Amino acid sequence: MDSLQGKGLSPRSQVVRRLIVMFTLLLVLTLAIALGSLWRIAVGLDQREAAQSRFHAQSALDQLHARERSYVLGHGFWQAAYDHLNGPNAAAWAFDQDNIGPTLYSQDGYYAVYVLDQDTSRYAMLAGRLSDQGLAAHSDSAARVLAQGRQAGQRGEAASGYLLFDGQPALFAASLIRPPALPHHLPAPSTVLVFIRLLDAPVLDGLGRSAGLRGFATATLAAAEDQPDQLPLEGSAHVLTWHTLQPGIELLRSVLPPLALAALIMALILSISARYAMRASASIDRSQQKMLASQAALQSSEARFKAVAEAASDWIWETDADLHLTYLSARFAELTGHAVEDWLGRPITALLDCDTGDVRRWLQGLATSQAAGSLRCQYHDRLQQRRICRIAARAIVDSGQCLGFRGTCSDITDEVAAHAQIQHLSQHDALTGLPNRNQLMRFLEQDCQGSGQVPLAVLMLDLDNFKPVNDGLGHAAGDAVLIELAARLSRSVRDCDLVARLGGDEFVVVLMRPGARSELERFCQRVISALQAPIDFEGHRLQVGVSIGIALSSQYPGSPAELIRCADVALYQAKRDGKHTWRFFSAEMNSTLAERRVLERDLRQGIGRDELVLHFQPRYKVDGVTIASVEALVRWQHPEHGLLMPDQFIALAEESDLIVLLGNWVLAQACSRALQWPLPVSVSVNMSPAQFSRSDVVSDVRQALTHSGLPAQRLELEITENVMLNDIEGALQTMNALKELGVRLNMDDFGTGYSSLGYLRTYPFDSIKIDKRFIQSLASSTSDRRVVQAIINLGRAMNMTVTAEGVETAEQLAVLNDDQCHEVQGYLLSRPVPHQRLVDLMAAQAQRPVD
Ligand code: C2E
Ligand code: CA
Ligand code: CA
Repeated sequence: MDSLQGKGLSPRSQVVRRLIVMFTLLLVLTLAIALGSLWRIAVGLDQREAAQSRFHAQSALDQLHARERSYVLGHGFWQAAYDHLNGPNAAAWAFDQDNIGPTLYSQDGYYAVYVLDQDTSRYAMLAGRLSDQGLAAHSDSAARVLAQGRQAGQRGEAASGYLLFDGQPALFAASLIRPPALPHHLPAPSTVLVFIRLLDAPVLDGLGRSAGLRGFATATLAAAEDQPDQLPLEGSAHVLTWHTLQPGIELLRSVLPPLALAALIMALILSISARYAMRASASIDRSQQKMLASQAALQSSEARFKAVAEAASDWIWETDADLHLTYLSARFAELTGHAVEDWLGRPITALLDCDTGDVRRWLQGLATSQAAGSLRCQYHDRLQQRRICRIAARAIVDSGQCLGFRGTCSDITDEVAAHAQIQHLSQHDALTGLPNRNQLMRFLEQDCQGSGQVPLAVLMLDLDNFKPVNDGLGHAAGDAVLIELAARLSRSVRDCDLVARLGGDEFVVVLMRPGARSELERFCQRVISALQAPIDFEGHRLQVGVSIGIALSSQYPGSPAELIRCADVALYQAKRDGKHTWRFFSAEMNSTLAERRVLERDLRQGIGRDELVLHFQPRYKVDGVTIASVEALVRWQHPEHGLLMPDQFIALAEESDLIVLLGNWVLAQACSRALQWPLPVSVSVNMSPAQFSRSDVVSDVRQALTHSGLPAQRLELEITENVMLNDIEGALQTMNALKELGVRLNMDDFGTGYSSLGYLRTYPFDSIKIDKRFIQSLASSTSDRRVVQAIINLGRAMNMTVTAEGVETAEQLAVLNDDQCHEVQGYLLSRPVPHQRLVDLMAAQAQRPVD
């Protein structure tokens, strides 16, 4: 297990572990040595104590023996004893006269007294009484005692020793009985006096006291085998035992527990610190690993950064805190034409400057706020051409200190030019360069709503006989006429007035402070004459006329739209009254308005009577062959006027809630038709801005989807920028809600609204449709082509499908193909067709083998 774990450990952790193991071993060894010494001391102490106690016990015994011997010797080496005890009345002398009688028992504690001679006992006293039994009757050691007594007696001494007396260990002392001075002529004495003292408890206690030891006792040899402290009582088959103190064991007992506790605590501390050390080492390993990993990550991110820097369309820069360039990516040279080395070390402010602010101050602001930011700047490329760029920057901050700045720089010169052009186009008519309806409305709004309320005249002009020119000689002739007439019109007004083209052959002139009616009439006369002057076009003399309707704000104050409508009614009257003339709007002309009311009523009934029909115009992939989706375009089969086009009734419907009725009919019809198609392509439905303001389009669309069962992703809504003009916030919310239904949103007529690019960025559009106006001049006007290219690039950059509408010529299609437009729509590929015809077209495509 150890080695298994060891495998996962770093060298450092392994060293730490080895150190810990060594330290532990050292500690255990020290502890063992200490314990060993302690043990030796304890054992030595105990041994010494045992030896001392043995010595004391032995001395006590020796003293006892000496006492006994001298006592018996006192009675044996005695003339009277010699005389009487060898005589016939030994007992009378010994016992009755108490010479060696009861007092020896009662006072001196001898249990038995014998006088031995050869094999007999001449006198016997047992427990203070005369006994007729000799020593041999109580002990096996009678002969030994006799022999030892006689032997000692020859040396003038007494003998002492042990014997077993009636099974009890006992001490004997024996002395020859003889006169103190022995004359030579007498036979050698042979009788022996024997005193026997039982080694019973009182005797032993006394012995113990004299030895200074406790627990003196006797034990049989067998029982005493494992008693450490004993002295043999030879001849008695017993040993003397006592309690010895064991100071060594005591020492161990008192020292070991605290020692063990200390060892335990040390082991605990060791294990905790070992674990801590291992953990610390592991954490160092981990941070080291992390460091290695982040080093590796850093290296790979540097490599990635380099790859991105080389591949990006922007160039990347870095400066130090003083704004001197320290790094420029390779793209810098490609985009600016400058060599990287020429700029490294120079301040970035020498390269870039900004008309709306100071680059240095802006960067310093970023350092303070520590936020990222972007700024529009300009610089001069190597050819000294002014380029516009957007720099994005962020301060490089380390421990609160700004070390420099880094960021990207994107060249937006083309984007800015395209934007400016689109802005211009959104306010101007592309063909004539005159202000368009947008600018007209803005102009009128400024002057109608201003506090001064300058009186003005709105003149609506419509060319007479223009259609034959256009149809007979082609668009180019028509365009030439329109351009020339626009110029003549512009020349006939003052600077403060406005000439606008509404589209087709419709113009509007706004005259500020028009003066008296007669003055206005002279102006109209002048205009009619000026426009009637013939125009030379490729050898043809072209001549058109004009009819004018006039509305005066002083007479019929109202909104710009109302003024224009009045002028339109007056124009209608002028046309009816024979053309090439003018009419002032008057209340009586409301008959025209009445006619409109009739039409409105007809339309309301017509929707109910199912007089509306949908025609369908396919949208193709830019290959011009594959149908990508289909646009539904409404028509009205009027019972008297025949098939009416949307221009003739949509505006009317938009004036009332009819547009909601119409819009919902189109939605429902388009969805159910789409379900009948052989190809599962989506259907596009045009939504009028009026629908957004008059109805809840989100619920209308949801209803159309749920009623028909068409999957939401097959429905696309075409919305113009005008939807966003009135209520920017509300429109955004509505469009987000529509997106949540799952439908696609297409920005229709792109390029004709106000600030197209801004809307495109903010709103959730899936696709853009470039207005046909741009497509029509695609092949002839390079500036229009640049705008179209810019829109396509913009759409691609924002992941939007870009469609070009109004494609009428193969040349236009080829250009769009070159410019990588996604989808195309127009008469060249298919006009709007009735439903059955569309189904046939699709069936043909469905059968075509896929290549
Ligand atoms: P739009 O949405 O711009 O539709 C394209 C118009 O251009 C259609 O006119 C179509 O027939 C026409 N067109 C298509 N290809 C070409 C071409 O190659 N050259 C030329 N010169 N024109 C082409 P249409 O059908 O007369 O519709 C006119 C406008 O009426 C539409 O313009 C759209 O804004 C509106 N409209 C049509 N149907 C509906 C509808 O159901 N609801 C609403 N609210 N508006 C509709
Ligand atoms: Ca459309
Ligand atoms: Ca259009």
